[in-house]
Amino acid sequence: MRKKLAAGNWKMNLTPNEARDFAAKLAPKTKGDSDVVFCVPFVSISDVVKAVEGSGVSVGAQNMHFEEKGAFTGEISASQLVGAGAKYIIIGHSERRQYFLETDEIVNKKLIKALEHGLIPIVCVGETLKEREDGITIELVRMQLKRGLLRLTPEDAAKTVIAYEPVWAIGTGKTATSEQAEEVCGAIRTLLEELYGKNTAEQIRILYGGSVTADNASELFAQKNIDGGLVGGASLKDDFEVIAKA
Ligand code: PEP
Repeated sequence: MRKKLAAGNWKMNLTPNEARDFAAKLAPKTKGDSDVVFCVPFVSISDVVKAVEGSGVSVGAQNMHFEEKGAFTGEISASQLVGAGAKYIIIGHSERRQYFLETDEIVNKKLIKALEHGLIPIVCVGETLKEREDGITIELVRMQLKRGLLRLTPEDAAKTVIAYEPVWAIGTGKTATSEQAEEVCGAIRTLLEELYGKNTAEQIRILYGGSVTADNASELFAQKNIDGGLVGGASLKDDFEVIAKA
């Protein structure tokens, strides 16, 4: 049985003090049967880790570099994240693909490094509106995953979380219908079964992300292949309490 996961992506919002106060207030309210993670800006990780102590909430980062260490000015490594108390890491978010030119190959390198350090990766995939209209959503998502998860062992795959996030639904208020989301998440499960076998595929959590709100979360998360959500805008509001409980 897969445990549901509610992951908040705070993006580039809140100062460390604001993040600490917000996390301290929100964390106890999210207590329920699901795993909950706040993916916060790098500079807030340590403060938020302290603020959520004892609440059951974990803390994650939104990006990392794939090299172990060295001359990569401005970058953050997996071991630095672990040292700061992060447990999860978002990899290949569409904003990173779009604005920072991350490719599936980079996603793959980051994923392998994150797993090496015991971080739980949340690997994001999803189509643009044009790709959906062109009818290539499933093929595209399959290719993103085949490349992104290249050379992963079934053991590592089982620890990885996949987030299906249609680009046209992120931050737009246009949520995928539960049928659209389930169709792609089901196709992802099928691919995972082809790659790693049924047993492993059944253990991997698949999230939906894209304008999840307090109003649509329970219907989305009730779908057979949707094991929770990756939530942007609503993760910075009290709505996240309702979403985590859904
Ligand atoms: C996201 O950033 O991953 C996301 C899904 O954003 P939003 O919930 O605001 O659409």
